Amino acid sequence: MLILGAGLAGLAAAHRLGSGFRIVEKDARPGGFCQTEQRDGFWFDRTGHWLHLRDPALRSLVRDLLGDNLVELHRSARIFQNGRFTPYPYQVNTHELPPEVAADCVLGFIDAQLGPGGAALRAREPVTFGDFIRRHLGEGFARHFMFPYNEKLWTVHPDELLAAWCGRFVPRPTLEDVVRGALGIVNEAGYNQTFWYPREGGIEALPRAFLPRLGGPLDLAVAPVSIDWRGKTARLSDGRVLPYRALISTIPLPDLVRLCEGAPEEVREAAGKLSATVVTYVNVAARGTAPAYHWVYFPEGRFPFYRVGSASAVYPALAPSGTRSFYVEFSHRGELSPRLAETQAIDGLLACGLLRSPDDLLFAFAREIHGAYVLYDREYPAAKKAILDFLAAAGIESCGRYGSWEYGGMEDAILGGRAAAERVLARVGR
Ligand SMILES: Cc1cc2nc3c(=O)[nH]c(=O)nc-3n(C[C@H](O)[C@H](O)[C@H](O)COP(=O)(O)OP(=O)(O)OC[C@H]3O[C@@H](n4cnc5c(N)ncnc54)[C@H](O)[C@@H]3O)c2cc1C
Repeated sequence: MLILGAGLAGLAAAHRLGSGFRIVEKDARPGGFCQTEQRDGFWFDRTGHWLHLRDPALRSLVRDLLGDNLVELHRSARIFQNGRFTPYPYQVNTHELPPEVAADCVLGFIDAQLGPGGAALRAREPVTFGDFIRRHLGEGFARHFMFPYNEKLWTVHPDELLAAWCGRFVPRPTLEDVVRGALGIVNEAGYNQTFWYPREGGIEALPRAFLPRLGGPLDLAVAPVSIDWRGKTARLSDGRVLPYRALISTIPLPDLVRLCEGAPEEVREAAGKLSATVVTYVNVAARGTAPAYHWVYFPEGRFPFYRVGSASAVYPALAPSGTRSFYVEFSHRGELSPRLAETQAIDGLLACGLLRSPDDLLFAFAREIHGAYVLYDREYPAAKKAILDFLAAAGIESCGRYGSWEYGGMEDAILGGRAAAERVLARVGR
């Protein structure tokens, strides 16, 4: 059995298979998006990588893998707007906003739920993400937070995206939640209030924990150059041709299609229609104590980034004592030069007060993630279906965040890898 990619999905698939497989990973190091970089005593993940574990079986697996090397943490997230930090989620915390903004949000919510303005949207399921926001949150929340923030994150207006992706990720408050939130009655909501993180080793400790338990080889710094899906062989960059009984791929879906020799033209065209944003993040190291906030959302256009997190605020061991760290995240589709991102990150940190003085800065450096957030646009459903139908007929299992071409977390990647392995075991046995 052949597994492409040694991120969490590939490693979880291998772990579930137990033996009889080979993993081929193009990078010199396993972990995929769960790699941790160290510099001068600071630990930087590829932006915040906090483990949200909903599935009890997965919690047990992660506990089994990491043992004592796991800490439980409680979210402290904020939104920066109108010159102040207000609690997240926005929808149930309007009491700290300027009164006219809070009134807009609450009245818009009531209209969406009960009033004449929301009647048309209530009559049908929302198709676009924009309609989902108007329907479930109302015009005020849309205008003041959801539209500007999401346009920065996704690089397109929510009206250009489908509603299908967001059910699990966008908290939908009740009228009671919104009213209590407007009156300042503490009200926690959302999917990620509690999360976990390795005590040592950064998030990379999680993929690394799989390694001693793998019952098969992991080839690093080698990639497939073509896949003969009819003959069930993969040609690798080092010249080898590997026959396989079953293929599990966790590499990005469009890349997999490009590798498949003789894939039908309509499938190749479909692969060309899938798109994703690029995230540039700037890691910043500074003197001083950590800010209290784990991460902060920035909806206002004067800040070019959408979010700033502080790994050292979440877990102080990620920075030397007396210092703190930030990751500043920009989403884009065209070019963003690393130098410009670094300058804008530092200017923004100073403007909002997370960094008190330029003299506190120790260093900053930018990194880029290609294909960070897949776009659930109008092309998405038909294009993805055409590809998955072809792969099913070719007997290829594609899983993981980019193998499934979806918005999901580490938990989803592990679950996806395990499920793919189970399907393979059911189909071809060990
Ligand atoms: C900015 C950002 C922030 C995130 N924050 C969180 C968070 O806080 N919490 C959370 O749970 N999740 C978070 N995630 C999601 C999480 O990173 C992913 O869900 C998970 O790491 C995906 O694992 P994977 O194995 O599916 O994919 P990947 O990690 O991408 O692994 C795929 C592997 O395949 C390899 N590969 C690619 N092409 C080839 C090829 N041609 N041949 C061989 N190998 C190849 C890659 O090098 C990689 O190692 C975040 C993601 C991003 C982008």
